[in-house]
Amino acid sequence: MRYAIISDIHSNLAAFQAVLHDIDERGGVERIWCLGDIVGYGPDPKECIELLRQYEHACIAGNHDWGSLGKIDLNDFNPEAAAACRWTGQQLGSEEVDYLNSLPLTLNEGDFTLAHGSPREPIWEYLLSTYGAQISFNYFQAKFCLIGHSHVPLFFEQLAASGDCFLHEIPPDTPLRLEENRLIINPGSVGQPRDGDPRASYAIYDSAHGVIWHYRVPYEINITQQKMAEHGLPSRLITRLSYGW
Ligand code: ZN
Repeated sequence: MRYAIISDIHSNLAAFQAVLHDIDERGGVERIWCLGDIVGYGPDPKECIELLRQYEHACIAGNHDWGSLGKIDLNDFNPEAAAACRWTGQQLGSEEVDYLNSLPLTLNEGDFTLAHGSPREPIWEYLLSTYGAQISFNYFQAKFCLIGHSHVPLFFEQLAASGDCFLHEIPPDTPLRLEENRLIINPGSVGQPRDGDPRASYAIYDSAHGVIWHYRVPYEINITQQKMAEHGLPSRLITRLSYGW
């Protein structure tokens, strides 16, 4: 079976559509795993939720989903992110609110645990170092964990023999083989990449072959930026999409 692993769509419909098109071109998937932050930052919160819900999928909550619902204090966000959360909350209808409210913090799907930030602190923890990852490996039962939140595609590997932990980049178009070592994998962000590459980032898990493929997809960034400007969203959030930071 084939699964798309997507995260941090952040109301960027143009990026999300480009990723869905890319998935189709690669033969499609049976199920989508979405690692949270469907909304926040971008101009199309309702449309992104509606589009995701048309697919067979599992999704967990991210900090921006909760921020837009008012489930967490917006003072915990930087000013631009808080402004975008406030605006997003005003765009959501009761259907979207109910859907976002229904999202769990973590989910188990086969050999995978899904958590937005980390399995230890799903809403807020950023996993970018082996120190944090080493601790996180104690906080999920499945063999593998899928995370988002940092918007940086990478994976942590815990050696089965020694328990030592290593950080790796996931190079695009090279399969990541799932073998004996436990892994924590971040597919990067669909709607606001932060690794210096502005293209949308996502992955496909092929369970029959035990591999994960990582892909980058160009999209019409200016379409998203223009809508953000029309809605008066903060200019720093508009600019950063051009640079992928
Ligand atoms: Zn995010």
